[in-house]
Parts: sequence; C-alpha cells; structure tokens
Amino acid sequence: MPSNTLSAEANRELEKFMSGLIDRNPHEPEFHQAVHEVAESIIPFTLENTEYRDHQILERMTEPDRIIIFRVTWEDDDNNVRVNRAWRVQFNNCIGPYKGGLRFDKSLTLSVLKFLGFEQVFKNSLTTLPMGGGKGGSNFNPKGKSDREVMRFCQSMMTEMYRHIGPETDVPAGDIGVGAREISYLYGQYKRLMNRFHSVITGKGLSYGGSLMRTEATGYGCAYFLQNMLEHQGDGVDGKTAIVSGSGNVALYAIEKLNQLGATCVTASDRNGMAHDPDGIRDEKLEFLKQLKEVRRGSLEEYAKEFGCEFRADERPWSVPGELAVPCATQNELSGDDAKTLVKNGVIAVAEGANMPTDLDGIHVFREARTLFAPGKAANAGGVAVSGLEQSQNAQRLSWSREEVDERLQGIMRTIHAKCVEHGRRDKGFVNYVAGANVAGFVKVADAMIAFGVI
Ligand code: NDP
Repeated sequence: MPSNTLSAEANRELEKFMSGLIDRNPHEPEFHQAVHEVAESIIPFTLENTEYRDHQILERMTEPDRIIIFRVTWEDDDNNVRVNRAWRVQFNNCIGPYKGGLRFDKSLTLSVLKFLGFEQVFKNSLTTLPMGGGKGGSNFNPKGKSDREVMRFCQSMMTEMYRHIGPETDVPAGDIGVGAREISYLYGQYKRLMNRFHSVITGKGLSYGGSLMRTEATGYGCAYFLQNMLEHQGDGVDGKTAIVSGSGNVALYAIEKLNQLGATCVTASDRNGMAHDPDGIRDEKLEFLKQLKEVRRGSLEEYAKEFGCEFRADERPWSVPGELAVPCATQNELSGDDAKTLVKNGVIAVAEGANMPTDLDGIHVFREARTLFAPGKAANAGGVAVSGLEQSQNAQRLSWSREEVDERLQGIMRTIHAKCVEHGRRDKGFVNYVAGANVAGFVKVADAMIAFGVI
C-alpha cells in the first residue's frame, strides 16, 4: 500500500521491502501490518542516513533472533488430557535481555506474536532502559477455566519455558489473559524448577518481589502521555470527554488516571460489546468495574445493568462523541471508518493503550486530519518501563515507594514524549508521533547493531 506522504523513491523502496518481507513471512498479516507502519517512517529516514541501509539494519531487525515453539500438555478438572501450543519470540537483544509479555488467547497466532515482539523492540528502546524485545504466549483460553486448571496449564508451560528464559536472557511479563494469577503460577514453577529466586518475570505480587504501581503503570502511563501531548499544544485533559475501549488492566487504570486528570470517561468495552455511561465511569462505578473484570471475570453487560446505562452487544465505542479516544483492548479494533467517525465527532487526540489497535487506514485518517495520534509503542510503554524498574528494585533488593515509582514513570513518559517530538517530522507545528516514536526507537537499537558488527 503506497503512502501519499512519501517521496516516489521512498514509496518504491517501501514496496520492494514489503514484498520481500511478505514473501519471507507468508500468512502473517499482523506482522506485515506492524512492519509496514514502521517501514513508512524508517525507509525515508534511512534514505537520508545511508549507513543504516549499508548495514541492512531494517532487514536484520525484521528477522527475530529466534522463535521457540512448544507443546503444553495438561489435565483439566475432568481428567481429560488437553494440548495447547506455546511460543516465545526472542526478537532482538541488542540493548538488553529480551523483555515482553505473555498472552493467553484462544485465537493467538505466531503472526500476532511476531507483530507484538517487533513492536516491543522499539517500545523498550524508547523507555531509555536496557531492555531488548520479545513476546510469547499460548492459544490456551483461560476463559471459563478453574483456578486449578489455569495453575496446571501455567506449570506445564513453565516446565518447558524455564530453559529459554533467565534474568540476563529473557524476562517475560503479563499481557491479555495473563494477570496476577497466571504470573504467580508461572513464577512459582520457575522457582521450583531452578531453586533460584531470580528476577525472571515481572508483574510479580508485592510479597515476592513485585513493584508498587506495576498494575497501574500501562494505563497511567498512557494518560500521562496524552496529557503531555495536549500540554505541548497548550491544552490539557481536564474537562474533556474520553472514549475508552477495553475493560482489562490497561483500560481500568487509564480510566482511573484520566478521571484524576479531570476527564470524563464515558465508555468501556469487552469481547461482548460496549457500555456507554454518559455520567462517567468513576468512583464506586469504577470500583465495581474493577471487581467485575479483575476478580469475578464477568461480562461488561453486568455493569450496564447495575448502573442503568446503555450496553450495545458486539459493538465498539467509536461512534460515541468525545475529544479523546483511548483504545485499550486489542489489535485492529479501530478501522479507517471508525477513525473517520471519531474525526467527524470532534476527536482531537488519540492515545493507544493497546498494541496496534488502530489499523493502517485509521492511522492515515488521523494523520490527514492532523489529529494528535500517539502510537502504542510510545503511549503504552509505561507498563514495560515499570517492569524494568521492578527488575532494578529486585537487583538492589529494595522496594521503592509508590510515589517514587510514579515519579519515575511520569519522567519516563515525559522523556518518550520529548523524543517523539524531536524525531517526529513537523509540518507547520504538527508532530507526527508515529514517525517520532519509530525513528527514536530505531536509532538506539540500530546503533548498537552496527557497533556489534555483522552478527
Ligand atoms: P486484559 O486481558 O487485562 O484486558 C483485555 C481487554 O480487552 C478485556 O476487556 C477484553 O475483553 C478485551 N479484549 C480482548 N480481546 C478482545 C477482542 N478480540 N475483541 C474485543 N475485546 C477484546 O489485557 P490488557 O489490558 O493487559 O491488554 C490490553 C492491550 O494492551 C493489549 O493490546 C496488550 O498487548 C496491551 N498492553 C498491555 C500492557 C500491560 O501492561 N498489561 C502493556 C502494554 C500494552 P474480555 O474482558 O471480554 O476478555
């Protein structure tokens, strides 16, 4: 798909590069999409900075270091033997050990994990912390499973995965379907197998090496990024209406922080549909939602019934008017048509709490409308940043206070914002945050790759 903002030469290079990538990685649409989004920014940059082309950096960065694929066999509560597939994509460790979450989702594919691992390389680079990029997970579906079933699955998965991870090698964390419960079971089995209390996984419970604020970090960080973007324009979050999707870890804490910053969050969504609460999801309503989704693992429809607001089955929230849009559920949940609707309804800023929630058409619509648009690799980097801080605390055998972690998180989000502004090409004051995040993330990793020689 040629881009109308690139020169003819850059478009030719992009087409050639993408056609080679698609040939080498057939049937991986999400991976193609994530690389295309990055290549649109990096190819023009490398045409001007030719040493990166001479070293074939983009070609090398789009080939993972290795992919581990394994079987996970476990027994359900009725003594049936069950079989799942799991992966760990170790994408790039040039600036630090591989780092990235684990996802449990019945529709998970290698293509999704490659897109997530690729994005993670750039995101981790942007945090300024020494972390490479990786991602993993399984097509195991935790929905409707008992705690014991989840425990047996996690133990079996770690019984293979422990060989491939380590505090200096690869440090997984949570993602969709992998929360505090799953992290605890995974870490318990690692510790049992290794007889070591390693800092090998993040998002741990507070009693065994977790960091304060890790639970809140991705959502809070996303709200801070949005605030930074608006302040850069002389504006702010206060008084704005926010359209949020998702109702999991990222969405809940994005809503919480946006409320604290003075916004009104009027929507949430899950796999069943979306709830529209014009009075705002706040106070006891937000506490109810946390209990519902984090503890009882119920459906959002219950929230709508409890508080007498509208629930639209099988719908996403993008037709609801608001100035801010914060997609926090999953990839490709906001299309070009959704973006047009949001623009028509007056959206001024979008911050991606999820990874790649906006498809390429949507990104182009926002760019053409000059809507402030923060890609996930910048806006949701607060989660992995606090994971990095969890590792630092573990290494020092210290626990920092909530205030200290929050201050560092705010500082990191400010730095990421400043890097995006520095590298995002500007056109009459407009910051292209997609280009800014891509180029800033790329340069650090690329320079390390060049320094290491041809390996
Ligand atoms: P959770 O599992 O806690 O929540 C995911 C939410 O999205 C749930 O409300 C879920 O609905 C909904 N959802 C999941 N898949 C779909 C789908 N196919 N269609 C519609 N809704 C869906 O995950 P997180 O909040 O941790 O992650 C959300 C996004 O943020 C992901 O893209 C993840 O990669 C990204 N992210 C997460 C980080 C973290 O620290 N957790 C860090 C950086 C990025 P339901 O409740 O019905 O399952």
